[in-house]
Amino acid sequence: MRRLADFALRQLAGLMPGELHAADFAWLVSHGRHFALLELRRATMIANRVRLVAFLFAVLTPLWSFIDFALFPFPLWVALAVMRLFASVAFGLLVFYCRLARGMPDAYRALAILFAIPTFFYIVSHALLCTYELHGLSGAVRAGYAFLPFVLLAGMSIFPLTAIETLFVASPILIAQALSGFLSGPLLDWPSFAGAFWLLTLITGVSTLAGMSQLAFLIVLVRQAVHDPLTGICSRLSGQELLELQFDIARRYNAPLSIAFLDLDHFKSINDLYGHEAGDGVLVAAVEAIAGRLRRADILARWGGEEFIMIMPNTDMAQARLALARLCEGGFGTRPDGRAVTASIGVAERIGDRAPDWKTLVETADRRMYHAKRCGRDRVAFEDEAFAAA
Ligand code: GH3
Ligand code: MG
Ligand code: MG
Repeated sequence: MRRLADFALRQLAGLMPGELHAADFAWLVSHGRHFALLELRRATMIANRVRLVAFLFAVLTPLWSFIDFALFPFPLWVALAVMRLFASVAFGLLVFYCRLARGMPDAYRALAILFAIPTFFYIVSHALLCTYELHGLSGAVRAGYAFLPFVLLAGMSIFPLTAIETLFVASPILIAQALSGFLSGPLLDWPSFAGAFWLLTLITGVSTLAGMSQLAFLIVLVRQAVHDPLTGICSRLSGQELLELQFDIARRYNAPLSIAFLDLDHFKSINDLYGHEAGDGVLVAAVEAIAGRLRRADILARWGGEEFIMIMPNTDMAQARLALARLCEGGFGTRPDGRAVTASIGVAERIGDRAPDWKTLVETADRRMYHAKRCGRDRVAFEDEAFAAA
């Protein structure tokens, strides 16, 4: 039995986008192990798509009133027009609300609102339309109202969601559909209702697969963009994003945040004397030495050729001094001639240095690093003028 399950899983993994590891399959089912930058990109992508759809619905929903006006009796038209107006305003507000989305909780809220508006509209309009006898063309337009859940469930496919997330979004729509069937009472044509429900379930399945495949490509692309290919640590772009994220968190909780700007000394001479490949080897070894002494929450990013930024969340200047002392004690590896690789380091802290944003914090650390260079290299600068020799 276990062998059969293993075989099935292997086959399934073989069908996934080639760049995705088999272990990542769980990432497509639930978001439990997604990394911060993936969630950030996913949130932006979802929020942007919610805005686009909300904008289209805000414009199109009231326009349909013209058709209602031509074909429905006056009281029904007025009731529907008022509902459409409310829905349109709600979609319009959502377009503005989404501009502020800054993480997955915001994206979830935006998604929930996007799907709640038409679901609510569907339930109320369905109850209203049931009370009227409509034939011919008006009957056909009423039938058109019944397509709304199909449109919503198919629309889910444009979002990069995990299987569980898609099912969460889909279930209220499916429940609404079931509810509308029960509200219709004895008039309901059960065989066609069951057929429609089956079709909705199928569309949900297809949308779930579409959402998962979008997520798979997003994971692959983000992973490629996030890592520096030589050293495997964060690239500059992802380092900036993470620093911005950490800066916002630190500001929100008024917590300290330290960064260290690290530049290896006389690195060019390694390339000049021993070749670029030897230089690459020294870089990789230096990163291994630094990464081995980081704490779990610390982040290391390659800022430039032989420049790195160490982000230390929840760390004040005193703690940063200890962390840097530990870092320098272990060294940064050895040059091909056997001498130790050294670094000039500038450290800055959000609260102590009154940095209004992450860019200023980097500038301060960068300035101190250059100061360390000017004063003889192989040292750490915690202030603009004073030094602690490494
Ligand atoms: P300083 O002590 O003033 O920092 O001197 P430096 O030689 O380290 O600084 P400089 O900015 O003059 O030179 C940096 C060198 O790093 C130049 C460049 O060739 C090298 N470099 C940048 N990226 C890479 C890389 O990916 N691999 C290798 N091997 N060398 C790189
Ligand atoms: Mg440099
Ligand atoms: Mg250098």
